Amino acid sequence: MKLYNCKNCEHNFQGRFCNNCGQKSSVSRVDYKYLIEEISDSIIQMNQGFLYTFKELTIRPGKSIREFLEGKRKQHFKPLGYLVLTSTLYVFLTIIFDLNNPTEDFVTGFQNDMSEMEAGQESTTLTILEWLAKNYGYTLFLILPIFSLASYLAFIKSQYNYFEHLILNAYITGHQMIVYLLMSVVVVKDNFTEVLPFVGSMAFNFWAYYHFFHEMKSYIKIPLSILSYVLFLIMLLVLMFLVLALTKNEL
Ligand SMILES: [Zn+2]
Repeated sequence: MKLYNCKNCEHNFQGRFCNNCGQKSSVSRVDYKYLIEEISDSIIQMNQGFLYTFKELTIRPGKSIREFLEGKRKQHFKPLGYLVLTSTLYVFLTIIFDLNNPTEDFVTGFQNDMSEMEAGQESTTLTILEWLAKNYGYTLFLILPIFSLASYLAFIKSQYNYFEHLILNAYITGHQMIVYLLMSVVVVKDNFTEVLPFVGSMAFNFWAYYHFFHEMKSYIKIPLSILSYVLFLIMLLVLMFLVLALTKNEL
């Protein structure tokens, strides 16, 4: 068998691929064929990864994320990339179809509650909330680390570290965008159906946690899932009051 010297890492090897770095044994000059191959390879790889992760998260979210953390990663679309892609799709579609965005609903509710607050404080909070609503895509990336801290603390007994919780929640939040979009289709204005997207995406989260923490007993992991949300809300409120206090001193 012919012995090749790898053009990438200079390792000597036999066969079609370098057994040290994985590069092909035949490397030709970069030309139009290379370009076409590179473009079609990237598109196919991206689609395959995305569709695989999409399918896995739809059928068995908890189990597939657990397997990802345990090392079954090659076929998957990367978690943060998945979140970026689905939230971009989400923002794009909500603008096109003028769907209600959950943060926007939250702001409207908050605006009503705050009509009694003093003028200066009210406007600062509103500016922050309005910014968050308009930049829903970025808001997710602010929420993700906080929500992951909450789930990490709630499930501290499960032995997953904070960064593993980040991955867990990145995949879940990413897929929640899709759940939210699909559920938005059935919403009728001024009707109980308006809560369905929210309820649906929350149910998805609970379902995913339920199968992710498969070693825990149901009567423990369901309350702990609720505790994650409670801790998250507390942290969000504390953060909001901190921002308020800081901006108030500056005025
Ligand atoms: Zn090599």
